[in-house]
Amino acid sequence: MASEPTIQFLGAAGSVTGSRYLIDTGSAKILVDAGMFQGDKELKERNYEPFPIPPSEIDAIVLTHGHLDHVGYLPKLVRDGFTGKVYGTKWTNKIAEIILLDSAKIQEMESRPRKGRKGREKQRNVQVTRAPLYTSTDAAQAIFHLQDVPMDKEFEVVPGIRATLRNAGHILGSASVELNLTESGKRIVVSGDLGKAGHQILLPAEAPPPADAMIVESTYGDNHHEPDDVAIAKFVNAIKETIHRGGTVIIPAFAVDRTEVVLRQIGELMKNGTLPPTPVYVDGRMSLSVLDLYRAAIAEKDPSLRPLQGNADPFNPVGQLHEVRSWEDRMDLAKKRGVIIVASSGMASGGPVVGHLAGRLDDPNNTVILVGYQGEGTPGRALAGGAKRLMLDGRELLVRSRIEHVGFSGHADAEELISWLAKAPAGKTYAVHGEPEQAEGLCRRIRSALHRPAAVAKFLERVQVGRGTAEQQVA
Ligand SMILES: [Zn+2]
Repeated sequence: MASEPTIQFLGAAGSVTGSRYLIDTGSAKILVDAGMFQGDKELKERNYEPFPIPPSEIDAIVLTHGHLDHVGYLPKLVRDGFTGKVYGTKWTNKIAEIILLDSAKIQEMESRPRKGRKGREKQRNVQVTRAPLYTSTDAAQAIFHLQDVPMDKEFEVVPGIRATLRNAGHILGSASVELNLTESGKRIVVSGDLGKAGHQILLPAEAPPPADAMIVESTYGDNHHEPDDVAIAKFVNAIKETIHRGGTVIIPAFAVDRTEVVLRQIGELMKNGTLPPTPVYVDGRMSLSVLDLYRAAIAEKDPSLRPLQGNADPFNPVGQLHEVRSWEDRMDLAKKRGVIIVASSGMASGGPVVGHLAGRLDDPNNTVILVGYQGEGTPGRALAGGAKRLMLDGRELLVRSRIEHVGFSGHADAEELISWLAKAPAGKTYAVHGEPEQAEGLCRRIRSALHRPAAVAKFLERVQVGRGTAEQQVA
């Protein structure tokens, strides 16, 4: 008799980042996602700990989507001996390429000793920093392993494991993963990150198939998003009032998808006259590269996208969009007032938004609009919590600008997660990718609304895929 397959939670268990789940059938080991831990020091430290199994023992990797907390650990795995293929949708792989090269640059920069003011004298006292987690060369090597697979078409991951990717509506190319383990007849479904059903550009997530074990994200597992009209009204008021008093609006936005959603929203609101025509600046090399990918997918009429009307650039319908492509552009922008700046990163923990905040946060005429999830320990979280002083890039800043938090989340909320899960029967369900209270809240809802066993996945815990609904259907 074939041995029972197991799932081991190697990340995003009790935390939001570091998604990586090891599926072991007894004859093959594959990883779903290879994410980097982000957030506070303790979480980041996990990236440097030895991987729980030798990477050479992993036969293949399947990616749900291109966000750093799902793909950012790939170069480390490849450098430490992983030699297999990494499967993802075309857009996931293109996004992963951009993300990994950017991440490698950040690692290299952070590990470089900082030059002191007094040159040589200070150099001698410089702290020895550790080697980067990986380099640009490692990232390039990892990219070489990426293999495109189409949505909705079953493929062989390794002999004995077949997979199908289905639109998850979270970011361009994002998917849920169905894994069919042919020896045991078991089926495991990994939700990946699930998008909000009302996403401006992407179609809602496809229904999952029945599963013996389900791994579901829980970022907002116990929360309700504010209704779209409430969020938009808040967004419009904050922008209008700020522009009216001559201030500037700064929107920290994740380079992937949030930037597109924010630009689309602003463009539509200016087109229908709700917002006055105002110059909008997008700053961030990565944001602009991903914006070009979204434009390409729209031009190709990718089936995961909502049909968009008209031939105009969907992100620039009224001609107010400016792309910050050079240092000079950024210097010019620093002098401007009465504009809207959309810059990465989304939690203000790095990227060009840090410079914009540093230069403008002490001005009460300005407004910072937070539009997405703000991880624990990040400057964005501190701003959302009403901090009056903020440590940013080694400097303490006074926060005098108005701070608004608008729910343009890229994740399904509790109700949407339950309605997605309700679309197919499943055996035991494990909540991942959520802070503990969100994950526990989702499990309570699953037990009471769907009458299914549910548990919060624990970091490094290994569970057996027991007898579940899919098995009964497959048998
Ligand atoms: Zn994501």
